[in-house]
Amino acid sequence: MGIRVKYPPHWRLFAAGNGGQAIEGNPIFMQRAIALATENVLSGAGGPFGAVVVRAGEIIATGVNLVTSTNDPTAHAEVVAIRAACKALGAFQLKGCVVYTSCEPCPMCLAALYWSRCDAIFYGNSAADAAAAGFDDSFLYEEVKRPLDQRRIPTKRLLGDEAIESFNTWRARTDKIEY
Ligand SMILES: [Zn+2]
Repeated sequence: MGIRVKYPPHWRLFAAGNGGQAIEGNPIFMQRAIALATENVLSGAGGPFGAVVVRAGEIIATGVNLVTSTNDPTAHAEVVAIRAACKALGAFQLKGCVVYTSCEPCPMCLAALYWSRCDAIFYGNSAADAAAAGFDDSFLYEEVKRPLDQRRIPTKRLLGDEAIESFNTWRARTDKIEY
């Protein structure tokens, strides 16, 4: 018994290799993610967030929120789990993997999950649940939609004509590893 999700059409294009078939969510893996989240609070290592990466029916990596214990604002459970999974696989993508996270991903983790090219994402708590517990990330979703000059962190272009050199070098290189 599980929950089936369907890829939206655009993701089917993005995630070449997966034919867009439904992915079965396994409650056992979500329970593990939830348990990791609760244990993380009890141990004092970080916030109430846990994630597991599953490949071929097996957990290949786990992650918990380590922001405060490692002084790393990017150490959200999903990012920690993605890094561990990629290390375990010796790969920079998670094709064929399903990620179970105890909470709906924040914008950073959502982007990281898309970059990882994982096959599907299952989440436990909703973003609204997170907001009620003091973890409101809705401002980030709003921020992304705002023009640069209206964002909270001042963001301005500088030396664009010099920066383009990096892209020119990338384009010219014939033996690069594309991703
Ligand atoms: Zn996050």
